[in-house]
Amino acid sequence: MENCLFCKIARGHLPSRKVFEDDEIFAFHDINPARPVHLLVIPKRHITSLATVTDADAPVLGKMLAIAGRLASEQGSPDGFRLIINSGRIGHQEVQHLHAHIVGGPDPVGPMLKRV
Ligand code: AMP
Ligand code: ZN
Repeated sequence: MENCLFCKIARGHLPSRKVFEDDEIFAFHDINPARPVHLLVIPKRHITSLATVTDADAPVLGKMLAIAGRLASEQGSPDGFRLIINSGRIGHQEVQHLHAHIVGGPDPVGPMLKRV
């Protein structure tokens, strides 16, 4: 994807504060953190959204989930964290390259959602 921000970050064509990388996934600090710990984990291969994944994407999705606890712990959230994947219009996804937010820190992140 030529003009995809997170494809560029995953390839090192744009700067990021990387915390982990392997052949399939890349993790870095969110540029505008909502909590003391706020990481993003992305597949290196362009996948637009969790709303449109297929069975073929399951292994890389599994990897993203499997590494989350380790990264949260290493980056300052050893007592748990929240993983958020905003998906599509209703999920308020702003960057159209699948990404999991890992948020946490020393204090609890609070209730999951504001009730309507
Ligand atoms: P979402 O609303 O789930 O699509 O979240 C997009 C996230 O990407 C936001 O939390 C942004 O702060 C973050 N973001 C946007 N541009 C960058 C960037 N260049 N480096 C790191 N994080 C970014
Ligand atoms: Zn992309």
